[in-house]
Amino acid sequence: MQEHGKVVLITGASSGIGAATARRLAADGHRVFLGARRDERLETLCGEIGSEGGTAAFRRLDVTSAADLRAFVEAAHTTYGRVDVVVNNAGVMPLSPLAALKTDEWDRMIDVNVRGVLHGIAAALPVMRAQGGGHFITVASVGAYEVSPTAAVYCATKFAVRAISEGLRQESDGGIRVSLVSPGVTESELADHITDPAARDAMTRYRAVALPASAIADAIAFAVAQPPEVDVNEIVVRPARSA
Ligand code: NDP
Repeated sequence: MQEHGKVVLITGASSGIGAATARRLAADGHRVFLGARRDERLETLCGEIGSEGGTAAFRRLDVTSAADLRAFVEAAHTTYGRVDVVVNNAGVMPLSPLAALKTDEWDRMIDVNVRGVLHGIAAALPVMRAQGGGHFITVASVGAYEVSPTAAVYCATKFAVRAISEGLRQESDGGIRVSLVSPGVTESELADHITDPAARDAMTRYRAVALPASAIADAIAFAVAQPPEVDVNEIVVRPARSA
């Protein structure tokens, strides 16, 4: 294990890709700071990482609140003294056809998947600039590149964070690196919150070919491991088999 690794903040670390990323990066010797609303899960995960020799801390986080994300970044900075990497991973995907008019679910996707990422950038960018550099990793989706039925709003949020990440990278003077990691279907709890019966049924077909969350953690770990002069712009990871 590499000593004195980077300080990596991960949103949505209580399950799925975020939790797998926390485990993988801690095993690589990075110090992780974990956020999500289910903080009892974060506590358990930090305990597991610690018992395996890693360094992990957590704070309860709702990414829809800009103030909460500021407090999260401040707490990480107080704990470890730096903020090297922010993995903007928290996301929700309550799929449904537009005609179902599930407007509350549209709002929730926009609040978590888009505003959550912007809040992460707003909270961490000044800290990174002050310390002379940093790295944002946005977990987008194959839905950032193509639209499918029942996924219009979800894909819109992922197109949006792809655009935001690209803009942030273009505006950076090189000190701030920005990577977009876009998974195809991956084992996690993401589909558990789908309320539309047809969309829920369709997901069972996809789940048959789902990647383990560790496959996405591996891609994130690759981006984190690069030297300062290398910025991995985009990685798309799909299951080899189609559904
Ligand atoms: P999970 O549902 O397992 O994880 C989602 C995470 O987001 C949870 O830790 C959840 O924690 C957190 N979260 C949700 N709402 C909030 C909030 N308001 N504030 C803070 N955290 C929140 O799904 P995945 O691991 O699959 O999702 C991770 C990312 O991967 C998402 O951005 C998703 O869109 C993306 N993705 C996933 C794919 C897949 O097939 N699994 C494919 C493409 C992209 P809590 O509820 O405790 O707050």
